[in-house]
Amino acid sequence: MSKLTVVVPAYNEAAVLEAFHQRLCAVLGSLPQTCDVLYVDDGSHDATWTIISQLAARDARCGGLKLSRNFGKEAALTAGLDQVDADAAVVIDADLQDPPELIPQLVARWQEGYDVVYATRSARAGESRLKKFTAAAFYRTMEKMSDTSVPRDTGDFRLMSRRALDALHQLRERQRFMKGLFAWIGYRQTAVYYQRDPRLAGQTKWNYWRLTQLAIEGITSFSTAPLKLATWVGSATALLAFVYGLEVIVKALLYGNNVRGYPSLMVVILFLGGIQLLALGVIGEYLGRNYAESKRRPLYFIEEKHVARDTTPASHPLRTSALD
Ligand code: UDP
Ligand code: MG
Repeated sequence: MSKLTVVVPAYNEAAVLEAFHQRLCAVLGSLPQTCDVLYVDDGSHDATWTIISQLAARDARCGGLKLSRNFGKEAALTAGLDQVDADAAVVIDADLQDPPELIPQLVARWQEGYDVVYATRSARAGESRLKKFTAAAFYRTMEKMSDTSVPRDTGDFRLMSRRALDALHQLRERQRFMKGLFAWIGYRQTAVYYQRDPRLAGQTKWNYWRLTQLAIEGITSFSTAPLKLATWVGSATALLAFVYGLEVIVKALLYGNNVRGYPSLMVVILFLGGIQLLALGVIGEYLGRNYAESKRRPLYFIEEKHVARDTTPASHPLRTSALD
């Protein structure tokens, strides 16, 4: 019998975890596969870990992983997925924005032979117009700029087969733009559509600042287009400057030079200065990422662990190392 593990990253989700677990268990109970759940506490400051421990004590199919501090959702997901020894894993948010009721559909597509089955939102309830607009703009930019096309309106909610998990496990880069990594590994991928609900309780951890960071992360880890853009803008300005220079020389020859042109001088200096700083900034973004990558630090540390007790013997070796 095949086995399915549900990985749930949770950061300060004490308010919703109980409700989430109930809804999830109702769904898992209806599946023919052996199922277990792995909660990853991403260094929460509230009672999240206490609740996970209680759930693990009460429910034999429930395991928990506590990271040593808040490493961010991508690292928490990686930590969880590294532990999975099942034939497939489902990744789902703890805040009930991803409906657990969709899991049987994901599983059905997996049984048809797909390796990655992602859930795509056909509606975004409870999100502001600005958020919808910026999200759409981001996906469009990503599509244009990189070779890896990230499916639109798709979060981390998805199912992955064993070989997709093994492939993902080999990508140990620190710049973990998960949506991009999921797409990058390839294999047979397909979508299942659903309506995204508003958060049940608690608050989103993604303010616009963090979302902007994520967008920069996504673009810089999957595309060098900004570097090329800097080259192109630089060349275009150089060309314009050359044409303008010619004009200045010709005019000076024809009409003589009576020291004027302070405004144009100022404009050119400021404009070129601005462009140079911008290009430096773009290079800096890539350089900084290169620096972070070159340190090769582990992606996370595990502080505590509850292993799900009710599991069939593992058919695949358990992964514990975050280092390789
Ligand atoms: N999350 C996490 N670590 C973080 C931030 C978020 O593990 O540093 C988890 C969070 O508990 C939730 C999921 O990632 O289960 C999605 O987070 P959130 O709901 O804040 O994001 P949104 O749904 O607004 O994109
Ligand atoms: Mg959410």
